[in-house]
Amino acid sequence: MLPERGGPAELKTQVQDRNLCTACGACAGLCPYIYTAWEKVAVIYPCGSEEGSCYRVCPRTPTDLASLDRQVFGRERSDHVLGQHAGIYFSRAKDKKISARGQYGGTVTALLAFLQEQSQIDAAVLARGSGAALPEPAVASSREEILACAGSKYSACPTLSVLPQVRRDGHRRVAMVGRPCQVTALRKMQGLLLEQQFTHLPAAGLDMFVIGLFCFWALTPAFYAFLAEKAGAEEISKVDIPGEGLKIAFTSGRELLIPIDEVRQLIRPACPECFDPTSELADVSVGSTEYDPAWNTLIVRTAAGKALVEEAQATGAIELKPYPEERLPILRQAALNKKLRVISARQGNEYLRLPLAYRQKLIQEGGN
Ligand SMILES: Cc1cc2nc3c(=O)[nH]c(=O)nc-3n(C[C@H](O)[C@H](O)[C@H](O)COP(=O)(O)OP(=O)(O)OC[C@H]3O[C@@H](n4cnc5c(N)ncnc54)[C@H](O)[C@@H]3O)c2cc1C
Ligand code: SF4
Ligand code: SF4
Repeated sequence: MLPERGGPAELKTQVQDRNLCTACGACAGLCPYIYTAWEKVAVIYPCGSEEGSCYRVCPRTPTDLASLDRQVFGRERSDHVLGQHAGIYFSRAKDKKISARGQYGGTVTALLAFLQEQSQIDAAVLARGSGAALPEPAVASSREEILACAGSKYSACPTLSVLPQVRRDGHRRVAMVGRPCQVTALRKMQGLLLEQQFTHLPAAGLDMFVIGLFCFWALTPAFYAFLAEKAGAEEISKVDIPGEGLKIAFTSGRELLIPIDEVRQLIRPACPECFDPTSELADVSVGSTEYDPAWNTLIVRTAAGKALVEEAQATGAIELKPYPEERLPILRQAALNKKLRVISARQGNEYLRLPLAYRQKLIQEGGN
């Protein structure tokens, strides 16, 4: 059983040394003695504190889902498979320049560009990179910078590590795009701030809008060496991992499809322990449709998320259509399978503080 509280020593032994670190970047952003390089995060100097915010914000230290639900939504969830939601849609950017650069429909980039255009945010915390280069955390404050970060980077870019830079640059209204583990870390940080604990945390004073990505696994940085080897002298224009395998598109127009089993061996060890594939604690969550690459799946969760999506639709920044009824069981089954695998694992899921009712509902849905 993991201790409820701890310091850097526990973060190191319970999370980092056990390969459970998701490289969210949260701890590295709040302590100069925690360092990140090549998507590896490590405590490099033992500061000696018995209790630290580094341990408390980590998505792989005790994480009480019911309490996070109450913090974000004001109540516990009614949907135990997909988390709280106020609407599920197919969505895409209306601006063709954005949809052309987006991973699928470009919904994330369109929402960010809309927030920036309307002066509703000062900056966004994103992942920048392309081709076979290791991505890097980025703070984007212009439309060009937001567009330059479009596209999925299939590794664990530790973007939360740039929150202190956001504050140093004087930004106060900030959008964060993140994988589910990163959204959890940010919500844990906000929870500590709400309780007025650790008031120095990098999210202090920031008004944040959270766009969560779907994520069933991320790859280790070895993926980029793998891509470089496959590309040889050719230039990569896009990387995608649809159900059938890894698809590499080259600027020459050639496409290469690589069997998924070759890629699976590069899955980050922390990812099979991850309970949240759809960013359940975000304001809105965005994923693929696994069906039509020109569109996204969009889950609207909070009141702030609903207001943004309505505004963005009304002004023509994004387009919505109803989520096809026959696709919903497929999405639910994929999320449910991942959750059931995690709760039935013998180890690795000790971080989850899951109420019995949550667990029972999942097992019940799994048995139907
Ligand atoms: C590691 C990973 C695994 C994923 N797995 C799935 C999956 O199994 N099923 C599924 O439906 N969808 C998955 N997604 C989400 C999907 O790839 C798209 O990101 C999502 O559908 C949004 O599409 P879009 O067209 O709106 O994106 P875009 O408009 O292109 O915007 C993408 C945004 O994501 C940010 N971003 C890119 N890579 C990262 C990263 N590694 N960490 C943090 N932020 C990042 C960029 O900064 C950009 O702002 C995954 C994404 C990632 C990063
Ligand atoms: S999961 Fe995040 S907070 Fe936890 S050790 Fe890794 S980078 Fe730090
Ligand atoms: S699978 Fe989970 S732990 Fe791994 S990168 Fe995605 S959200 Fe983070």
